[in-house]
Amino acid sequence: MAKIVLISGATSGIGAATAQHLAKQGYHLILCGRRAERLAEAAQTLGQLTSVHTLCFDITLQNAVFKAIESLPLAWKRIDVLLNNAGNAHGLGAVQDGQLADWDNMIDLNVKGLIYLTKAVLPLMLAQNSGHIINIGSVAGIQIYPNGNVYCASKAAVHAFTQGLRMDLYTKNIKVSEIKPGLVETEFSLVRFKGDKERAQKVYEGYEPLQAQDLAELIAYMLAAPPHVNLADVLILPTKQAASGMVHKTQ
Ligand code: NAP
Repeated sequence: MAKIVLISGATSGIGAATAQHLAKQGYHLILCGRRAERLAEAAQTLGQLTSVHTLCFDITLQNAVFKAIESLPLAWKRIDVLLNNAGNAHGLGAVQDGQLADWDNMIDLNVKGLIYLTKAVLPLMLAQNSGHIINIGSVAGIQIYPNGNVYCASKAAVHAFTQGLRMDLYTKNIKVSEIKPGLVETEFSLVRFKGDKERAQKVYEGYEPLQAQDLAELIAYMLAAPPHVNLADVLILPTKQAASGMVHKTQ
């Protein structure tokens, strides 16, 4: 029986690339995001390769998260893998210059949204006595960088939550893993800099950043590990990045 993978943030970047990669491998997919047209497009394209179901909701809204999972048809209510990927940075600046709305966005999305979705999906995994939850954290969650304050704090929360979750579930045949990427070229910087394309592009110039496909391949590898193996905590960096904010730009 094909495994069912639910991907939050499947409309761009890491989530979209992972959906595409896993579709080719025959996983059945539940794709989530707010941009309905992108979900429809993915359902159309990937639907030619595998079974796809889409859920359009805002993960920061507690009721919407639980309603979305409840709305799944019975055949889709067996989630084998939860990829908690939806997340973004909003703004980059000192705390004294920061915007409260940006901070709320990051905490609501990166922390609360991830926790809500986990809570909503978990009963299904517990009932079937199996599952795998992969949380996308960040190197920023373990290495703070200047002006990263609240984003780094949100990813530190993901790191702490993931460890706690693993302790809660290791006797339940549910794997809990975290991936901490360094710089990945996606829409992430465009969102962080509120649509400023030039500023966003600069983040990825002068070295070879990770691509979303690199993460997709890592995730597929983690899912393919035998039942007794959990790649529990994976730091993945561009070769030219040594730490948060430490990138060797040569071009
Ligand atoms: P991205 O291309 O901007 O993708 C972000 C995804 O999150 C989109 O699919 C977006 O979908 C979804 N999302 C945002 N707000 C949402 C909301 N309120 N409700 C539901 N979905 C929402 O960025 P990415 O780089 O792929 O980011 C994926 C994850 O990797 C994030 O957790 C990010 O923090 C982490 N990460 C990224 C990097 C990097 O350098 N790119 C590094 C470390 C960690 P909709 O807009 O359609 O809702």
